Amino acid sequence: MRLDKFICKSTELTRNEAKKMLKSGEVRVNGEVAKNAAMQVHENNTITIDGQELTARGSRYFILHKVVDSICSNVDEVYPSVLNFIEVDKAFDLHIAGRLDADTTGLVLITDDGRWSHNVISPKKQCEKTYRVWLRNEIDDEKLPALVERFEQGLQLQGEDSLTRPAILTRVAEADLVDEESYRSEVLLTITEGKYHQVKRMFAAVGNRVVGLHREQIGGITLGDLAPGEWRELSEAEIALFA
Ligand code: URA
Repeated sequence: MRLDKFICKSTELTRNEAKKMLKSGEVRVNGEVAKNAAMQVHENNTITIDGQELTARGSRYFILHKVVDSICSNVDEVYPSVLNFIEVDKAFDLHIAGRLDADTTGLVLITDDGRWSHNVISPKKQCEKTYRVWLRNEIDDEKLPALVERFEQGLQLQGEDSLTRPAILTRVAEADLVDEESYRSEVLLTITEGKYHQVKRMFAAVGNRVVGLHREQIGGITLGDLAPGEWRELSEAEIALFA
């Protein structure tokens, strides 16, 4: 890890303050003055500021129940970043392991451990993500088996070189259309990758339209009784799933 990052992780200092501290010559690595913010350090180095030894603070892991009109970004834009919900010190040093669209609700994992989030996101790791999807058009009984098979075999999305990976589609319910915003079908979809707007594009590819989307599960992690807008730290067992 970079020296300035290590200092930020193990103190209350911001990146700029850490850099100033480095320039002033108050930081030592294994007894030698260190001024290079980009210097690579690891946990068995002895790093001191003003003679005080720093101990590495462990990585942080959170789950959030995302609400609509919030965004999975490290900056606030038209909508506020989901990081505003995580009421911890230096929340904006964290990142989101698998983004959701502004109008999608549900489970978001947040951490500062890049290797861990790679295990959640990378299609190579084939981590299952399950979405509850509300669709504009009905899926009638006769067409359901063929549709399930198309999702299982992979769909060609516009602008993509390869088919989507096998996905599991289960119909939950049908409903009467009440108004322009309402849905006719409710399904569960499990995918193991996260292409841009993937779920919406998959249903568009089969002539339907997503009118509501909610992520329920990532690997073995579920929202449980976390209410919309609430967050908590992940348990040791949950962290271990992607370690
Ligand atoms: N797929 C989408 O289309 N949107 C999301 O927010 C997540 C998956």
